[in-house]
Amino acid sequence: MIDIAEVAQAWVLACEDAKYEPDAQAVLYVVPGNPRNGSAALHVEPGSEVCANTNWPLDRAQIRDANSEARRNIHRIAVRDFASPRIALGRLRHELEHARQYDRCLAVYVAMSSVESAVARAFGQLELPCLDGSGAIYNVLPHEEDANRAAALITEAHFGAPTRRELAGTDAPLFRDTSPIEETTLSYRLLTTAALFPAALEWVAHEKEETIGQLLARFGPDADTAWQIMVQLPEIKDSGQRALESCPTEGEIKSASAPANAWAPVKEEIEAGREDAESALGEALPNIRLH
Ligand SMILES: [Zn+2]
Repeated sequence: MIDIAEVAQAWVLACEDAKYEPDAQAVLYVVPGNPRNGSAALHVEPGSEVCANTNWPLDRAQIRDANSEARRNIHRIAVRDFASPRIALGRLRHELEHARQYDRCLAVYVAMSSVESAVARAFGQLELPCLDGSGAIYNVLPHEEDANRAAALITEAHFGAPTRRELAGTDAPLFRDTSPIEETTLSYRLLTTAALFPAALEWVAHEKEETIGQLLARFGPDADTAWQIMVQLPEIKDSGQRALESCPTEGEIKSASAPANAWAPVKEEIEAGREDAESALGEALPNIRLH
């Protein structure tokens, strides 16, 4: 576990890299203890109320501060204890990339959560007996990919290449992919990811009490047209189906070197399907306009 001074130092570096003024545009709350089942960090978007719960036992002073006039409309990030300075820097930069996604385009930020819900719905419906390591699927989501790239880039620049041990740990997604962040194609990648699970995205629209057209409008002006093209192509839906069918069995998860590794085939099918969707759209709508 690292001390509070090391977390504070990582926060300054992460804010500088993400171009946020610490305390004025983004504020950090450290909640001592280990995350049990939840995540090691939490980004709360401007305007929403911060509350404490069992995963996030913020103290009264923190809650009061986070909801105060001065802080309520800035990004608030809460973190638990970190095992190393590298994990702290990576995780904080990851969360600040979500802040950047929010500030860059609110509509796409809302679309991100719809795609995330659709993927969760598609896999949740399988009612798999064992989900250990299935967070690996979460990391294929385009906004998570970008947040992990931001983390990998800054940690490599600051600490050098990760060790094999760091690349095998549960925080490895923060260090793996140092390709550039593709913020201008985020909406496009979200849309092609959702196209693999069209029924699940329609379910999300229904749950939100809106039409699929209203939901798709958040991706940009041509999203509805693009969607119509993609859902008519059987190979795209088939890729989504293959991703669902390639979920590991409980035995495969238990015998994998790490539970997350057992989910690699799912990740590969999603990536392949997304490439197919992108090439189909590239041909049909070469000048697509999205946010
Ligand atoms: Zn994230």
